[in-house]
Amino acid sequence: MKPKETMLNTPHKNKQNVLTKLSIDEIGDEHIFSNFETPLRDDAFEMSDDEKINKIEIHFKEIMHTLGLDLNDDSLKGTPHRVAKMYIKEIFSGLDPANKPTAALFENKYQYNQMLVEKDITFYSNCEHHFVPIFGKAHVAYISNGKVIGLSKLNRIVQYFAKRPQVQERFTIQIAKELQTILNTEDVAVLIDAKHLCVSSRGIQDNNSATVTSFYGGKFSNETTRQEFLKYIEMKTQY
Ligand SMILES: [Zn+2]
Repeated sequence: MKPKETMLNTPHKNKQNVLTKLSIDEIGDEHIFSNFETPLRDDAFEMSDDEKINKIEIHFKEIMHTLGLDLNDDSLKGTPHRVAKMYIKEIFSGLDPANKPTAALFENKYQYNQMLVEKDITFYSNCEHHFVPIFGKAHVAYISNGKVIGLSKLNRIVQYFAKRPQVQERFTIQIAKELQTILNTEDVAVLIDAKHLCVSSRGIQDNNSATVTSFYGGKFSNETTRQEFLKYIEMKTQY
């Protein structure tokens, strides 16, 4: 991370030491993550989507069977296939770089040189520690460095990184880094306000808490610029 960038909930520097001292449950409940990149193996995409769906279907059937469920039941028998297809084609489709949105850039013809904020982007993701939903709003902003990006692309980039097993801190950074690369500028801000079902529906069972993470790069490290961004997010829409 470059010095001009700040991030809430920055992971511990000696994370490897910390991780080895914690139990599996502690790593999950404390929401510790190991890297800004999603940990994928080199052979992650050697299997086709159809092969993956078949394999997950077999394994999910085994999980259901182990739970004691009767897979001959009409309501349950299609579930392993439905879950497998949903994993690959929908909720974890953002693992595959082939599904990454291609971002067409345009010249900043209007010479608009203020910040652009795309706020209240609804997303649904899943916690990588428990595989239950994380959902909420993402707010992203950038200051053009000569190029601009289509507004819907900002939404698509958020959705792409949401469709992975995630931790919120990594999700925040991945969106920010992608925007910085595409737009060729450090001047990017990302704020995510989310609810984790692994906190509200199990574990501590706190239904009221929410988790906020943020990333401020380049000019957004400046307090005035950051406050302007936060003000736009809080602004009530008039329509
Ligand atoms: Zn979790």
